[in-house]
Amino acid sequence: MTSHTDVLIVGAGPAGIAAALTAHEHGLDVSVIDKATFPRDKCCGDGLTTGALRLLDRLGLQPATVASWKTCRDVVLRSPSGRTVDLRLPDRGQFAVIASRMDLDAALVRHARDHGVLVREGVGFVDVTRDENYRVTTSDGVITARVVIAADGMWSPVRKALQPDRSTYLGEWHALRQYARNVTGPASSQLYVWFEPDLLPGYAWSFPLADGRVNLGFGILRGSTRKVGDMKSVWASVLDRPHVRDALGATAIIDDKVSAWPIPARVTSATLRIGNVLFVGDAACATDVLTGEGIGQALLSGMLAGDAAASPNPGADYERDMRKHFFADHRMSQILGRILSHERLARGALRVIDGGDWRREKFVRWMFEDEPRASAFTPRRWHRGYLSSPGAY
Ligand SMILES: Cc1cc2nc3c(=O)[nH]c(=O)nc-3n(C[C@H](O)[C@H](O)[C@H](O)COP(=O)(O)OP(=O)(O)OC[C@H]3O[C@@H](n4cnc5c(N)ncnc54)[C@H](O)[C@@H]3O)c2cc1C
Repeated sequence: MTSHTDVLIVGAGPAGIAAALTAHEHGLDVSVIDKATFPRDKCCGDGLTTGALRLLDRLGLQPATVASWKTCRDVVLRSPSGRTVDLRLPDRGQFAVIASRMDLDAALVRHARDHGVLVREGVGFVDVTRDENYRVTTSDGVITARVVIAADGMWSPVRKALQPDRSTYLGEWHALRQYARNVTGPASSQLYVWFEPDLLPGYAWSFPLADGRVNLGFGILRGSTRKVGDMKSVWASVLDRPHVRDALGATAIIDDKVSAWPIPARVTSATLRIGNVLFVGDAACATDVLTGEGIGQALLSGMLAGDAAASPNPGADYERDMRKHFFADHRMSQILGRILSHERLARGALRVIDGGDWRREKFVRWMFEDEPRASAFTPRRWHRGYLSSPGAY
């Protein structure tokens, strides 16, 4: 079976759906394929930053369609010395939300379908060749397309098909996730980030979900003193630390299932496009190298690709727009990451942040990507409501 479309999108995660909705809005004929059937899990912290929320708002996703959606205002940071800093996000709009990927991604797929986008689940990408158009072989037949958007995640089978000789890339971070239920300690409503001295420059987290569950985990930077092979045993020791147990409360039950996954964060040196095949989200290594957050970046790169698909030169326009929106922020995150990798500097940074209400309020908004990381250094992105406008929704 052979069919034709203007834009074929491989992957129906946040990047793929954002690309599909945007290209569809331009009047293009769009098809999305995903090898999974939804709802499907994705190993993730489930945290939505202000940046991600603003984009979901712009795409028209309604929070009520995501069952586990939980708005969070209270944030607790713990420095390597054990000092804690309590931060509060404003209550005008939503600045931080936790929503399980099982629910969020399925809601995005439904939302795209409701807008007339064709999403075919259980259809895997197999190969791509180019003649006049791209000719994509799937597990279900052949689709030809003028533009292909690869939203197929960290391992990007599309990239592998087009660059078969590249050595295996394992990502900048590796992160582990586990859920806990019956949480009755303060972590049931507050978001915790623990800068444990033995995990730096990585950190551990607990993010509150609806119904007394939390998403727990930690990430380590590849090449640091911590090895990926040690993660399970390190994690057992982290869960046993008194401040972690106190946050979760005595009744917390940690689920058996543990998952871990790489985080690709090198957008400035990644392949962003090959001809008119555009790589977005994790396939473009677009996560924040400081925090490992990638949903907002997936949505933004997807939207840029959806816009570029409507132009006469999709590949060149997309590459230009990615540079403009991502490169300065990536470099800024790299610099901050180097600071956080030193225990003394990380302690000092938290002391500075804790120096007054104004600093705490602005920092917590910046931390949650209310504005792009390096916007202070990129005047073209300055605007009147900098770190003072209402949140999303
Ligand atoms: C442990 C961990 C915690 C994290 N925590 C956070 C967090 O709290 N907040 C945050 O913002 N980010 C977080 N991230 C990063 C975030 O999960 C990713 O950046 C984000 O999921 C990228 O979205 P995406 O759409 O690019 O890719 P994905 O969400 O990975 O979607 C890719 C899609 O492609 C499909 N696909 C793959 N191969 C094929 C194929 N051959 N054919 C068809 N379809 C295919 C997959 O089924 C999948 O649906 C975390 C990551 C990890 C590992």
